[in-house]
Amino acid sequence: MSKLYDALCDQMNFELESAYIYTAMAAYLEKLNMKGMAHFLEEQAKEEVTHAEKFKKFLMNVGYGVKYRPLDPGSGEFESIEDVFGKALEHEKKVTARIHKLVEDARAEGDQRVLNLLYWFVDEQIEEEDTFSTITERLSRIGGNWNGIYMLDHELGQR
Ligand code: MG
Repeated sequence: MSKLYDALCDQMNFELESAYIYTAMAAYLEKLNMKGMAHFLEEQAKEEVTHAEKFKKFLMNVGYGVKYRPLDPGSGEFESIEDVFGKALEHEKKVTARIHKLVEDARAEGDQRVLNLLYWFVDEQIEEEDTFSTITERLSRIGGNWNGIYMLDHELGQR
């Protein structure tokens, strides 16, 4: 039993839960006929699954194995498009804090292999936060103007 490896497994589950949360967000946006935004978040959900796979691959390769837990998609209810992307940004900040905590724990144990795995995620989180903070900033500038919203919807649909 390893507390650090259990925490990595917990993060694997959290990445899968992130995929589930983004899928629920995509469904809300699709219901609003924001098909490009919905597509964007579905692609994001796929990316989260690849993040989970990285943790799984590591835990399997070191012979530790993984355990799955039930996933909570959240309520799937939102106030608005801005609310969805604001919550997505908050979620990514939470992921970043979790990754940084894992780095601290891996350092405390001097586990170079885990540190190497985690550094990829440290970099990745810079991109993830930037992605969602850019969208929330643009939405706030668009200020509810439908022309702007449809242009952004079209652009996000290109992902
Ligand atoms: Mg992730």
